[in-house]
Amino acid sequence: MSWTPAAPALSGTDLSDFDRRHLWHPYTSMTAPQQTRTVVDAAGVRLRFDDGTEVIDAMSSWWCAIHGYRHPVLDAAVRGQVDAVSHVMFGGLTHSPAVELARRLVALTPDGLEHVFLADSGSVSVEVAIKLALQTQRGAGRPGRTRLLTVRGGYHGDTFGAMSVCDPVGGMHAMFAQTLSQQVFAPRPPAGPDADIAAWTQAVSMLVEQHAQEIAAIIVEPVLQGAGGMHIYPSACLQVLRSLADDHDILLVLDEIATGFGRTGTLFASEHAGVAPDIMCVGKALTGGYLSLAAVLVTADVAAAVEGSESGVLMHGPTFMANALACAVASASIDLLLESDWSHRVEAVSDQLRCGLSPLRSHPGVADVRSIGAVGVVQLDRPVNVGRATTVGIRNGVWLRPFRDLVYTMPPYVCTDDEVATICAAMAAVVDEECE
Ligand SMILES: *Cc1c(COP(=O)(O)O)cnc(C)c1O
Repeated sequence: MSWTPAAPALSGTDLSDFDRRHLWHPYTSMTAPQQTRTVVDAAGVRLRFDDGTEVIDAMSSWWCAIHGYRHPVLDAAVRGQVDAVSHVMFGGLTHSPAVELARRLVALTPDGLEHVFLADSGSVSVEVAIKLALQTQRGAGRPGRTRLLTVRGGYHGDTFGAMSVCDPVGGMHAMFAQTLSQQVFAPRPPAGPDADIAAWTQAVSMLVEQHAQEIAAIIVEPVLQGAGGMHIYPSACLQVLRSLADDHDILLVLDEIATGFGRTGTLFASEHAGVAPDIMCVGKALTGGYLSLAAVLVTADVAAAVEGSESGVLMHGPTFMANALACAVASASIDLLLESDWSHRVEAVSDQLRCGLSPLRSHPGVADVRSIGAVGVVQLDRPVNVGRATTVGIRNGVWLRPFRDLVYTMPPYVCTDDEVATICAAMAAVVDEECE
């Protein structure tokens, strides 16, 4: 294939043809690719495709774009930072955007989390969290603690360490069984915020006691399991895990990459339980969806114990650690969130999703309808045809991206009541089409 710098950019079908032939999209085949739409513009809560169609983004670009697109404050933060410094290595150098972001994260996250590692994606932050847990246990004189305990149904990312704690059935365990670390899996917590947790508590307690001497850390997504099935569970489960961890010198890692920054109605989902983890991961909405960035926060005890491991230091340091553009827009996004009436906004979206989606409960083919914060889920009794569902969504003015048997939304917090109503109507149209 030849190339000249002067070659004009592709557009229209040339663009989508090249895309189809050369580019992977998430979890897709190169030989039998799914249809893609070409976004040429995004502003507010809307995406515009190259054929002029406009849709409300009901997915917030996978939890990220909480303030919507092309927000003037976030645009200005990126532009301002470009004019100062876009990126420098973080080895031996530092900068105000990293420090200002760390100040905010330390202040806003649960008490005790004081030290910050700025990673370049959610999956990498999970790898760092796992490494911190293992190094902490080595530093504390417990080198035999090399495994993690998690619950079934989780999702923590696509890299190997993260994959090892994803759901062993729905995840990719079978294919990589020879390569993945063998972790300890407790049952999935029961469904619903008020479910009886006695049986689950007994099962997980037995498992922890049985494996305590080999477990370095427990890792879960607090209150809402996202990509593993949009499963909402009682916050009391987190208190159980916290106390089991404390009783057995195990660390508690909370993965707030999806739930953080207000999505479930509290700034962090751990607040539903009043539980503070030893290690916490945030990402996704951290930058308001502008750039890839994640953070790991740890307690002073964890930071101190890591120093006692053989290396004496945390053995991690990605090239794009603490990217200045990403840090600058992250601080701007956090300030924008805190200055907004976000908790009322999330509550309003929540009420609207509940009202708008609950009639679907009696729809033939619907197994469950549930919501938490600004997240609304309709679970079918059959798999969704993603291609068809996407087309029906677009015809109804909404970008939806169902997976498995789930039609769901996590809209930008800035969606108006009318926009949330449009999202609910589009979801209903998808359910109609899938279940007719
Ligand atoms: C998305 C997600 C990750 C992975 O983050 P990436 O930025 O995609 O690597 C990890 N944990 C949870 C809970 C997530 O939702």
